Amino acid sequence: DYRKGGYHPVKIGDWFKDRRYRVVRKLGWGHFSTVWLAHDRDEDIHVALKIVKSAAHYTEAALDEIELCMRTVSVQEPHVGRDYVAKMLDSFEHSGPNGRHVCMVFEVLGENLLSLLRNARRYGTLRDAAGAARGASGPHDSGSGGASDDPAAAGDRSGDGLPLPLVKQIARQIIAALAYLHGPCNMIHTDLKPENVLVCIDNVEDVIRSELRSDPAYAELRGGAALVQVSRSVANSRAPSPVRAAESSAQSLERDLNDISIAGSPQHPPQRHAPPEPHQGVKVKLADLGNATWADHHFTEDIQTRQYRSPEVLIGARWDATADMWSCACVVFELLTGDYLFEPRSSSRYSKDEDHVAQIMETVAPFPKKFALSGRFSSELFNRRGELRHIRRLRPFPLKDILRSEYGFSPQDARETADFLLPMLEISPARRSSAEAMLSHPWLR
Ligand code: ADP
Ligand code: MG
Repeated sequence: DYRKGGYHPVKIGDWFKDRRYRVVRKLGWGHFSTVWLAHDRDEDIHVALKIVKSAAHYTEAALDEIELCMRTVSVQEPHVGRDYVAKMLDSFEHSGPNGRHVCMVFEVLGENLLSLLRNARRYGTLRDAAGAARGASGPHDSGSGGASDDPAAAGDRSGDGLPLPLVKQIARQIIAALAYLHGPCNMIHTDLKPENVLVCIDNVEDVIRSELRSDPAYAELRGGAALVQVSRSVANSRAPSPVRAAESSAQSLERDLNDISIAGSPQHPPQRHAPPEPHQGVKVKLADLGNATWADHHFTEDIQTRQYRSPEVLIGARWDATADMWSCACVVFELLTGDYLFEPRSSSRYSKDEDHVAQIMETVAPFPKKFALSGRFSSELFNRRGELRHIRRLRPFPLKDILRSEYGFSPQDARETADFLLPMLEISPARRSSAEAMLSHPWLR
């Protein structure tokens, strides 16, 4: 993706916006951008610099994202959710070999909830087969139980979730953020998923500076040494072979540096932290308004990442802010269990969308006939009686029972958790609970 119209090639030490921001290391990346830790010379703080791909449609989307981000910081009225949305500090354009890139500057946050989940799995006690096996094939699919179309995702995800009290805390903050976006900001996120929720770091500036102080490469960078020297010291400390050192061109060393910062070598202390202990508490922020829209003006109808996609979007019916609430329930389930709530697959007999609808019916409820037939794609999925076209035999497996039998929830926890999730999983958007209403749900206390 590092070509014309794609990502901007960034080297550690690069300057942006008339030498205001200097790149320290990589923080992450998404479909649209790479995100870098940078030092802001004017304010003497560290920031997250999001550099968007340069092709015209990415630029247009990024300009919308800036407008939406500006709205989230400019709203005047106080709101509980305001602090749970990642704050944009600045934006500008930058020209590079691959074109002009929109850049956005955000406060620095920690890892996203997907990597928190992965770490929970690594550090936590590994659950045996039960949880991992769920979803390998839909209960209605008596066939071969075919392989996932994304084996990495399946293999990576299934396993332990986070402790219940921690998930309640995180859920409350995500719902507060949604109430803020849907209410005073008048917008819909449309891409709520664990990758787009980031953990806050307490005293972030102290943490960054103390990590960087123990980083020889960064010390040299601060001392004003040339990038080549910095690169060499890092490369040498990794591969002390004189042959290698002599052969390495500055360019390949710089590339090394980028690789290192992604992998998190000892020279660049990893930005991934062990999951916090439940009693410590956690604060999260909702990030990535790259797909967000105004509530009264949709940029596209093609929204939401598959596993978090709502019934109305699946059938091509009208959607609104409650589409985010559907995704929210999917995210909360995933935080609790380490597994997707819905993980549809296609087969020779039915499409992925039809499998998705079937899974929803089995876990939540049948689609009301009038709603089922109200979408642009309804006729591909349902017959005139409102029944699925290719999947006839459904095997209901209610959420409460899944939590109990597949994930070992106590009967009370299973019941309470299902009672909390189901209002966000109402099939028809008109009946689904709003973020504002969910905020006062007793499960969050
Ligand atoms: P995209 O629109 O390309 O998906 P995101 O805004 O989701 O971009 O950012 C991509 C990744 O970069 C995130 O998943 C996260 O890991 C990291 N990231 C984004 N913003 C920040 C931030 N403010 N602080 C730390 N890391 C961030
Ligand atoms: Mg993203």
